[in-house]
Amino acid sequence: MRYAETGFNLEVDLTRGNIERVATDPRDTELYLGGLGTNAKILWDRVPPEVEPFSPDNLLIFSAGLLCGTPATGCNRTIVSTISPQTLLMAFSMMGGFWAPELKYAGYDKVIIRGKSPDLVYLWINNDKVEIRDASHLQGKGAVETAELIRQELKEPKSQVAAIGLAGENRVYFASIEQGRSSASRGGIGAIMGDKGLKAIAVRGTKDVNIAQPAEFMELCNEVLKYIKQREKNPIPGVMPILAGLGSPQEMKVHDEKWHTENFMWGNSRTRRKDFWNEEVEKKWTETMESARTRLISCYNCPMKCGATISVPGLPTYMMKCFSKLTYTIAAMSDLDFGLKIAQRATEYGVDAYSTPQVMAFALELYEAGILTEQDMPGMPSDSEGRFYWLLDRIVRREGIGDVLANGTYWAAQQIGKGAEAYAHNNIKKHEQLPLKLGMLNPIYFLMYSTGEKINITQIEGQFPQAPFAMREEREAFVKDWVQVPDEKFKQYFLDWEPRGEKSIPYYPTVEMTCDIVDWQERMHYIDDALGMCAGLSSFPLKPPYHIHNYPKFILSGAGIDMDEAKLTQAAKRYRTLVRAINIRRGMRRKDEKPPENHWKKRFPELEKELLDTYYKFKGWNNQGIPTKESLREFGLDYVIEDFVQRGILADSGDKPSKETPAEKEKK
Ligand code: SF4
Repeated sequence: MRYAETGFNLEVDLTRGNIERVATDPRDTELYLGGLGTNAKILWDRVPPEVEPFSPDNLLIFSAGLLCGTPATGCNRTIVSTISPQTLLMAFSMMGGFWAPELKYAGYDKVIIRGKSPDLVYLWINNDKVEIRDASHLQGKGAVETAELIRQELKEPKSQVAAIGLAGENRVYFASIEQGRSSASRGGIGAIMGDKGLKAIAVRGTKDVNIAQPAEFMELCNEVLKYIKQREKNPIPGVMPILAGLGSPQEMKVHDEKWHTENFMWGNSRTRRKDFWNEEVEKKWTETMESARTRLISCYNCPMKCGATISVPGLPTYMMKCFSKLTYTIAAMSDLDFGLKIAQRATEYGVDAYSTPQVMAFALELYEAGILTEQDMPGMPSDSEGRFYWLLDRIVRREGIGDVLANGTYWAAQQIGKGAEAYAHNNIKKHEQLPLKLGMLNPIYFLMYSTGEKINITQIEGQFPQAPFAMREEREAFVKDWVQVPDEKFKQYFLDWEPRGEKSIPYYPTVEMTCDIVDWQERMHYIDDALGMCAGLSSFPLKPPYHIHNYPKFILSGAGIDMDEAKLTQAAKRYRTLVRAINIRRGMRRKDEKPPENHWKKRFPELEKELLDTYYKFKGWNNQGIPTKESLREFGLDYVIEDFVQRGILADSGDKPSKETPAEKEKK
């Protein structure tokens, strides 16, 4: 019997209209856990680097995490993986909501889509009955609207629907997949869904998920719930409001936006408005939010209520969470009322709320600079808000200049030329980032920005405070109940971290400490993404309920896999290395691993070089960021060595094969 996972994937070939239920190998779960881990293994095996993002051979994988569908609080993430049209690397984007648990209850761990349908279709998974259905009547419909129409058509109000809007249909490089209560937005995965002619996947499941040791598992779940309650009553003092509690940043509840509005950059990520936040703005924004926010809502099996339904008069209701609240407002130099209104249209179109506003602000800056002209923008309104709506409509339809902008700032700048590249200044690995520009280089963030392959800082950071606390007593109080640390040394790192002086950034934490911290933060995110856990209860906040010490017990009692901290760390390192191997095979090298040039005013080239050199070594990568044979062997990734040698990525020196893990030996 399989525990926590169902042991079956659904393989759908849209070219041939073929659907298969395929049994999976439990030994892969032991090696790669599930979710992101097994997605990476499938992409490695089946999508070689010769396959372009828009090739029918590119796969689009929707995966429930290993523990999704179990009673583990907050474990509801769908991990969507493919090759990104924007970065040309592996994209993996997570969505919360209800979709992944429903897929488990229907009897599947993953839906693997290949091929392309000649006509627009949607997939209907109703337990064992799976059909590809005509979606021509849904062409051009909004993502949220589509979900509702499908539920009505199927007469299944309880079905969970993940859908694309017009942006996905038109292969906009930053198109999202929307799912009512959440979305998978980064990496342009909605464009791949549109390219495959797949408008939506609806799923309804009524089966059970088996738990290996139910009593032990429930006890762990209850401990987590108890801890969440206790932590809610005791927010962390001395940090900004969105970091004090648990969950995704509580933007729907927080009205104090002084920090974001005065520290983030407005427009095309260039203008700081230091005195923006005042009583008048606060009053107006609070009123706007309170009248628009109709209800606070949660994802499946979670008490945190990080999202909200937003109803602006005259517009359909939609769901919002996190920093999407401010991205349009800040990019358009406007107010919250505008931000909430345009976000409704953008959600229906299905676009990433981080990239889209920046692409539009970039276009307007090019226009101000005379690089784009009246001829490029015929009939564009004169006011900022009007221009944003005008651009959004053209981008999702790929009309005129919108067709160029729909490829994101990096590719659009290349196409426009005339110096436009200098205006696409806020990208990492060709992908738009949060509009944050700071003073002094922070070594932890430098490494995360440079080497992260999730390409989204909010999904890499967490665990270690973002800045030192001013007083030693505050730091001592903080470390007292810091049980989540994988090693006591992290407490000392934090205790000694001063806001000024010798032990302050950029030279403290030291290079070695920085490597440890970044590795810990990244590892927790990778574990969440394999288990299907919301980062808001694990890798993102300070002192979360899930951590490296209790996760092995959840995996053992939930999935029945013999697990301890060392094995879990090893598994996470294995598939993290595999994600890197996929990208290395696609050409990613050291030259691509850098933050936006202007992210910090004060840069330290020698220190940055040392950070990257040391971190590469620490991770078992060579000077180009390529995993070495020794590290690949350590994780039992001999098949990667073979491939790298064949492709000339690593030299063939004919040395001995790895010591295999028991699961690998058994597999042979
Ligand atoms: S913490 Fe928030 S985002 Fe995470 S699962 Fe719960 S409600 Fe959803």
